Formats: sequence, structure tokens, C-alpha cells
Amino acid sequence: MDFKEKIRVIQDFPQPGVRFKDVTTLLKDGRAFHAAIDTMAEQVKDKEIDLIVGPEARGFVVGTPLAYALGIGFIPVRKAGKLPAETVEAGYTLEYGKDRLAIHKDAIHPGQRVMVVDDLLATGGTIRTTLDLVRQLQGEVVGAAFVIELTYLNGRDQLKDLDDIFTLVQY
Ligand code: IMP
Repeated sequence: MDFKEKIRVIQDFPQPGVRFKDVTTLLKDGRAFHAAIDTMAEQVKDKEIDLIVGPEARGFVVGTPLAYALGIGFIPVRKAGKLPAETVEAGYTLEYGKDRLAIHKDAIHPGQRVMVVDDLLATGGTIRTTLDLVRQLQGEVVGAAFVIELTYLNGRDQLKDLDDIFTLVQY
């Protein structure tokens, strides 16, 4: 399946000069969505992952079906102040601004094997912060997976300590 063909590119969103990759056009195509998740599941299925961790909002859209396909649990990472139980937090600078992310303190047991998942790897700030949260809880990060990688933003530089980075489509 040509996944790139299913992703719409919007010029000058959210600001002039940015070519925004719109994954909603892939998600609304049932066959493409199914094939994308199955392909990602196939790539990571032998890594003995205990949990998928994904940041809001599109990390949920990709991370939850991937966890379901693998038969393992999903842990949400949210903007600080949104999760109901006790959390740990970390800060980040992303492509279009700054924010703080949070995870439930009891979400991961020390030593559990975690894969972090998002729709898109840009500068890597979001996933770096997600990694920091997992490590604060002493989870073992076994890799990262994305539908889209914007290689020209060098997000992989932030993930040098990971053995495995899976991306379905590269720009
Ligand atoms: P990073 O932190 O710079 O790697 O940015 C990644 C985050 O920003 C992801 O959670 C994406 O959902 C979002 N993002 C950045 N650029 C794009 C884009 O072109 N299309 C869709 N999402 C984007």
C-alpha cells in the first residue's frame, strides 16, 4: 500500500512556510488505516513490548489500535493538568510552541518494556519528553514508532539512545 498517497499535505498550516502532513485523510480510509496499523504491528511484534505509550492527541489515534492489535495495554500521555490521578511531568519545546506533558505515576511498573508511539516525528521534542516520562517511572523504552517522519527536521537526533525507530512514511 502506498501510504504517502493517502496523506494530504497542506501548505502554510499552521503558519506560513510549513507543509503540514494531514494524517486524517489516511485515517478515514478504512483499508489504509487498517493496513497502516497492521504494518506497524508486524514490525514491532517480536520486541516483547508490555505497553504502548502515546502522547495526545494523535498519539492516541495511532497508539491505541496498535496496542489493541498487539494485545497489550495503552498508556496516555497528556498535557499537564488533564489526567485525573497523581502524575509526573516533563517539559518540552515542539515545532509550534512549548508545553508540559504528564503521565499517571502508577501507569508503568519499573522494568516494563515500553514502545512510544505518535502519528508524526518532527523535531522530536514531543517524543523526547514522552521518553523522559517513561524513564521517570523506570520503564524500559524498547523503541519508537510513527506513521510519518519529517526527516528534514532531524527528530532522530533526539532519539539516539533508542535501538529501534520505525516510521511508515518519510518526507
Ligand atoms: P515534534 O515534537 O517536533 O517531533 O512534533 C511532533 C508532534 O507535532 C506530533 O505530536 C504531531 O502530531 C505534531 N506535528 C508536527 N508537525 C506536524 C505535521 O506536519 N502534521 C501533523 N502533525 C504534526
